[in-house]
Amino acid sequence: MEEIKVIRAKTLKPKPEDESKLVFGRTFTDHMFTMEYSSAKGWHNPTVKPYAPLELDPANLTLHYGQALFEGMKAYRDANGDIRLFRPMDNFARMCQGAERLAMQPIDKDMAFAGLKKLLEIEKDWVPHSAGTSLYIRPTLIATDAFLGVHASDTYLFYIILCPVAAYYKEGLKPVKIYVEDEYVRAARGGIGFTKAAGNYAASMLAGTLAEKKGYSQVLWLDAVERKYVEEVGAMNMLFVIDGKVVTPPLRGSILPGITRNSVLQLAKAKGLEVEERLVSIDEVYETAKNGRMSEAFGSGTAAVISPVGHFYWKGEEFAVNGGVMGPIAQDLYNTLTGIQYGRVEDPFGWSIKL
Ligand SMILES: *Cc1c(COP(=O)(O)O)cnc(C)c1O
Repeated sequence: MEEIKVIRAKTLKPKPEDESKLVFGRTFTDHMFTMEYSSAKGWHNPTVKPYAPLELDPANLTLHYGQALFEGMKAYRDANGDIRLFRPMDNFARMCQGAERLAMQPIDKDMAFAGLKKLLEIEKDWVPHSAGTSLYIRPTLIATDAFLGVHASDTYLFYIILCPVAAYYKEGLKPVKIYVEDEYVRAARGGIGFTKAAGNYAASMLAGTLAEKKGYSQVLWLDAVERKYVEEVGAMNMLFVIDGKVVTPPLRGSILPGITRNSVLQLAKAKGLEVEERLVSIDEVYETAKNGRMSEAFGSGTAAVISPVGHFYWKGEEFAVNGGVMGPIAQDLYNTLTGIQYGRVEDPFGWSIKL
């Protein structure tokens, strides 16, 4: 593999003074990693260099036709001061699956991982120290052809940028209120819902904004055909505890295959819980929440890990899950998963990678 070039920033930014005040996605570190693709050279020119704006042609294909994918993962500082990643190769593999669907060039996963490790080595002092904080990692893949024809690009740019982020929960997990969206849809089967394509988020923003205006923190997405089956909650996967079993919708193409979702399901099984991947209709959510068979509902994703749902709003009525109070399974899964991520809890799965 081509050696990674390193160009150091001439001046360094001051590190955040108060780690609790970091706003997600606003502060970036001193360096970024980039690599380029062309059919003649393949993936080449892996470089760690100063964080700086990109120069793009106004006819850049990504800007017009949305050949764009991203990933999200975190680096965690453990009690010994070492830096850990959580299942990083799964993120790069998911980006490759998305690239195939968007007719983009899949990344060289080993070059990307080597680049990430080199970048983190140089930026290690940016991984925050306080409890619950982390360094958010944003790998991104865009097309770079300057061409207005509707045709897959021949050239690509992959880059990784880093943001130190505060703890998601400052005072323990807090149940949120969710608006069940029965008009707009996020993704349809056969489309690109299973990829972290930029366009999926554009499709979701109007509903998210309207829900916020009504006092709900996110929307619950229903399937695009019948507006009947639960898909996801905001940009998180959705899980329920019904009759004591952990239940989540199956991955059928419109749902993003979350690495947290997969980890939660494996952990739940290892803890002796029954796990079901099956369709869950919104009628079932309503009925079982009301009659108490549903004891918990929560989202899963890298940012929050677990986000308990206290209330849903659907068809003019707000109803609670477990009286609006978080349940023990969500809390236990959160504790174990974050314990593994920060190296506090034994990791029989081999998920936590110490750098
Ligand atoms: C990123 C994302 C998730 C969660 O995936 P993780 O790998 O667990 O972070 C779920 N749904 C959507 C729509 C997402 O974009």
